[in-house]
Amino acid sequence: MKKEHIIRSVEEGSIAWELGIEAGDKLISINDNEIEDVFDYHFLVNDEELIVLIEKPDGEQWELEIEKDYEEDLGISFEQGLMDEYRSCRNKCMFCFIDQMPKGMRDTLYFKDDDSRLSFLQGNYITLTNMSDDDVRRIVKYHLEPINISIHTTNPELRCKMLHNRFAGEALKKVDILYEGGITMNGQIVLCKGENDGEELERSIRDMTKYLPYLQSVSVVPVGLTKYREGLYPLESFEKEDAKKVLETIHKWQKKIYEEHGTHFIHAGDEWYILAEEEVPEEERYDGYLQLENGVGMLRLLQNEFEEEFDTLVGDDRRREISLATGVLAYPYLKRMVERLQTKYPNITVHLYKIINNFFGEKITVAGLITGQDLIGQLKGQPLGDTLLLPCSMLRDGEEVLLDDVTLTDLKESLQVDIDIVKSSGQDLIEAIINNI
Ligand code: SF4
Repeated sequence: MKKEHIIRSVEEGSIAWELGIEAGDKLISINDNEIEDVFDYHFLVNDEELIVLIEKPDGEQWELEIEKDYEEDLGISFEQGLMDEYRSCRNKCMFCFIDQMPKGMRDTLYFKDDDSRLSFLQGNYITLTNMSDDDVRRIVKYHLEPINISIHTTNPELRCKMLHNRFAGEALKKVDILYEGGITMNGQIVLCKGENDGEELERSIRDMTKYLPYLQSVSVVPVGLTKYREGLYPLESFEKEDAKKVLETIHKWQKKIYEEHGTHFIHAGDEWYILAEEEVPEEERYDGYLQLENGVGMLRLLQNEFEEEFDTLVGDDRRREISLATGVLAYPYLKRMVERLQTKYPNITVHLYKIINNFFGEKITVAGLITGQDLIGQLKGQPLGDTLLLPCSMLRDGEEVLLDDVTLTDLKESLQVDIDIVKSSGQDLIEAIINNI
C-alpha cells in the first residue's frame, strides 16, 4: 500500500514555506521516487535539484521544482516522525529494563523500540534482530551513520540466550555488512554477572576490535536491576570486587588497543567506577566522549567543566541557603564539588541529598530514574533553603514532569520550596549554586 506522508509543520522562512507548502499537505514523491520512510526522505532530499510532488487537502497536486544547496533541508516535519510505523523489538532480553518496571506508568514508557531509523535519528541502540537485509543495504547505500548497536556478546549462542531470540546470533552478521559499507558504528554491552562477563567479555572485546575503525566505540555498562524481577531470568547484581575485575579487563584492552589503533575503543560506564570505589579516568581516555548518553564519561566531564569554571571564580561572602538532590551515583562527585565551591563562597550553605531509589529499588542509582515520589518522601521536612536544585536528567525531555508523572508544581507545593532545574554541565551547576541571590 502506498504510504501517506502528512506534513505536520513547515518551518517559517524555509524553502517549503516560501513555496507555499503547508501543514496538512501530503508529500507524494521526490524526483519521481516514492518515499518508504525517513531513510529514503533524508537521502532523496539532499540533491541540489528536486521535483517535489505535493498533494493539497482538496486533492490538487503541485509539482514544485526546487534548486537548492546540497544537503539543504526543505524545512518540513511529518506527522509520523519516522514516516512509517515504529518497529518494536522481537527480543525478550534477560536484562530488559522495561520488563522490570512497575505497572501503572505511562504507556509510552513500556514501548520496546528496536528501530534502525531511531538509531540514526535519535541515537537509540538497536539489536539488529528485526532488520531486513534491505534495511541494512539502505543504510549502506544512503550512508546513514552512526548506527548504534546493542552487541552484548559476540558469542552467537550466548547472544541468542541473552536476547531470548534464536536469530540474535545470526543477526550479528549485519555488523559485517555495515563494516564493509564503511558505516560508523558505536556498540554497547550490558554486562550480566555470570553470563557475558569474564572470559566472554574478553572474547567480545577481542572480536569487536576487528571492526575498528568503523566501530568507533563500545561501552560496557552493568545491568540495571530493579526490585520488580519476579518471574524474570534470575540475575545478580555486581559487587565491588566484580567491578574491579571488569575495570581491570577494560583498562587492559584500552591500553592494547590504544597502542595499536590510537583509540581506546572500549569504555566502562561511570557506574563501574563508583561500584569499585575508583576515580573515573582522565578526559583523554574517553576519546571525545562518544557515549555520554550511555553514562560513559559523564562524571569526568562534569568534574572537568566544574574545575574549569571554578578556576575563573574569585569568590565572595554572599549568603545563600539552598539544597541539591541527586542519585547515589553522582553524589560523591557532587559532594566534592560543593565543598570545593564553599572554599570560595563560605557563606553559601548547600544541603546536598543523596536520593535512594525506593521506586525502582535501591540498586538503581542514576539521577535520571529518580521519581517525584522519592523526592517528596525523602526531602519533606528536611532543610531545603530557599531553592531546591534538581538535575535536568530527572525530567522528561523538555517537560516539567518527572518519570512518575509528578509535576514540578506538585513538587514545589509538596516541599514548599522553589525549584531550579540545573542543566547538565559543570558551569551550569556553579551558576545555579552561586547565582540568583
Ligand atoms: S531489545 Fe531487549 S532490552 Fe531492548 S526493549 Fe527489546 S527486550 Fe528490552
